[in-house]
Order: sequence, then C-alpha cells, then structure tokens
Amino acid sequence: QAKSMGPGKIRVFSKSMHRQNMITMSLEQDLRQALTRDEFFLEYQPVVNFVTMDVEGFEALLRWRHPTRGLISPNQFIPIAEDTGLIREIGLWAMEQACSTLATWHREIPSSRRMTMAVNLSAKQLNVLGLSKKIRQIMDASGITPSVLNIEITETAIMEAPKSALAALKQIKALGVGVALDDFGTGYSSLSYLHNFPTDTIKIDRSFVAAIQNDEESLEIVRAIVILGNSLSLKVIAEGIETWKQYETLKNMGCDQAQGFLFSHPLGETICRELLEHPETIPWKHAIPHLDP
Ligand code: C2E
Ligand code: MG
Ligand code: MG
Ligand code: MG
Repeated sequence: QAKSMGPGKIRVFSKSMHRQNMITMSLEQDLRQALTRDEFFLEYQPVVNFVTMDVEGFEALLRWRHPTRGLISPNQFIPIAEDTGLIREIGLWAMEQACSTLATWHREIPSSRRMTMAVNLSAKQLNVLGLSKKIRQIMDASGITPSVLNIEITETAIMEAPKSALAALKQIKALGVGVALDDFGTGYSSLSYLHNFPTDTIKIDRSFVAAIQNDEESLEIVRAIVILGNSLSLKVIAEGIETWKQYETLKNMGCDQAQGFLFSHPLGETICRELLEHPETIPWKHAIPHLDP
C-alpha cells in the first residue's frame, strides 16, 4: 500500500508493490491473447430453492487457465480486463458460452427445461451501444428464451455511470431478460437503486450472510432487506451460504433462492449435466441439517 506521509504526501512504494505492478502488467499482456488461445472456461454454481432445495438454475462464473501461472481468480483478472476494455469481448464470450451450454441442457435433458442461467455483467459492458441487441442475437443464436436468462450487475458498477447503466438495463429488461442486483447491500445507496432501476432480483452479499451468525445488527439488516424485497415482489437470493445455521435463518426470513458452498461450489459442465440428469443424487437433499449450537 502506498503511504501518504504528512502534507508533503510522499508516497512510499514497497518492493512488493512494485512486484505486484509487474505481475499486473504481464497479466495484461497475457489477457490480450487469452481469448484466441482458448484459455477461458466457465464454471456453474447451482442456485437452489430455499424450501425444496431443488436446483432451479446456475450462475456462470468465468475462469482463466493461465499457461504458466495456472488458474487465476476472476477477482484478480476481471479488474484488469475492465481497465483495458478487454472485458467487452470476454464478457460477450462468457454470455455466449453460458447461453449455448444452457440451450444444450434444455435440449438434451427435458426435465431441465426451466433451468435458468445468470451471467455477470461489468459496468464497462453496460455503456457499450447496442449491448441489448447483442444479447438478443446471442439468445437467438443459442435458442434460449429470454425468461431463462438473468444478468447480474453490482451497485458499484451502476454507480460508475448511472445514466447509461439505467438506459442499458431498461433495454435488457425489455428483452424479457431478468436483472439482478449483485452484492446487494455493499454499495452506497442500495435503496435508491432498488427504487430507480429495473430490477427483479436482489442477491444479498455473502459478507452479510457470513455476519448474521455472530452479529445481531447484520441479522436485522438482512431481515429488513428480505422483507423489503418480498414486499416489492423481488426475488431474494442469498449468496455464500456455508452453514446449515445460515440456511435455516435465511429460509425462515423468507429468502427465495440460495447459493453457497453448503450446497455446491461452482461446477464444471459435465458434473452439472450429471446433476440435471440424476436430480435424485443431489447430495445436499439427503444431508441431515446439522445445526451448530
Ligand atoms: P459474484 O458474481 O458475486 O459471484 C459469487 C462469488 O462467490 C464467486 O466467486 C463464487 O465462487 C463465490 N462463492 C459462492 N458461494 C460461496 C460460499 O459459500 N463461500 C465463499 N467464500 N464464496 C462463495 P468467483 O467465481 O471467484 O467470482 C468472483 C467475482 O468475479 C464474481 O462475484 C463476479 O463479480 C466476478 N465474475 C465472475 N465471472 C464473471 C464474468 O463472467 N463477468 C464479469 N463481469 N464478472 C465476473
Ligand atoms: Mg454474480
Ligand atoms: Mg455477488
Ligand atoms: Mg462479488
């Protein structure tokens, strides 16, 4: 971290910072080639009904297999992709891939026809003219209906350019695609976004989910979010559920859908297929909820 020292504002760069910059620069170079070198792939995290624990959909999560550094987390490379503008192409690739995978499941596994797919969109994609047209083309080419596609956008992303974001989201909504506010509660003005933006789903950030167990205030904030979501007829998804205690608490509050390691990590395409073909083998439906004291 750069350290501001007094009024002179002398910045001290550490060796490790320099190293970090070098890594970022080299990743930036590699990111430019990653698409053509076929280094990206998607994993899909099941989205589960709170009451039945059935899988109702998936969230597509981007992965980068770097030729020498191995798997790189999206938290590390998405910001670089955003800064360089590469996110536009990469983001469309992810959407194409997610839609075509979902279309294949729908086609080949009849019982999966109502499965939904959520795709994350970055702010840098929202201000591209013709985005909704592009999404329309991707849906048409893959053969999925708009109602099974959801896009996820964070409040922080909207905040970067609220006007163009609003315009883009309205157009996307008009296609019949669902719009979810991701990481809900972590931005500065969650409530005003809820009011002004065409949203149908809120995803409670996992930092809140993690805090409800040992922090009464977080518990009450989450309760208020769920009540608000319910009364505005929004779907409420809780992210990052890791314990049965969290599950029980959020279920009793009236959350609609759950995502988290308690049920499943993001999975490869093949395992998802197996899960869809043999829903009776879903492990968490047979687990006996173990409630911590
Ligand atoms: P997100 O959209 O909020 O996705 C949820 C993240 O939480 C995922 O991390 C997921 O693996 C992780 N997660 C899910 N359940 C649990 C849990 O129970 N415990 C914990 N500790 N973590 C859990 P991941 O895959 O590393 O993605 C991180 C972020 O990168 C995403 O956050 C999203 O903002 C961004 N991202 C991923 N794929 C894409 C993409 O295709 N496009 C864009 N623009 N952003 C993406
Ligand atoms: Mg998301
Ligand atoms: Mg999130
Ligand atoms: Mg996040």
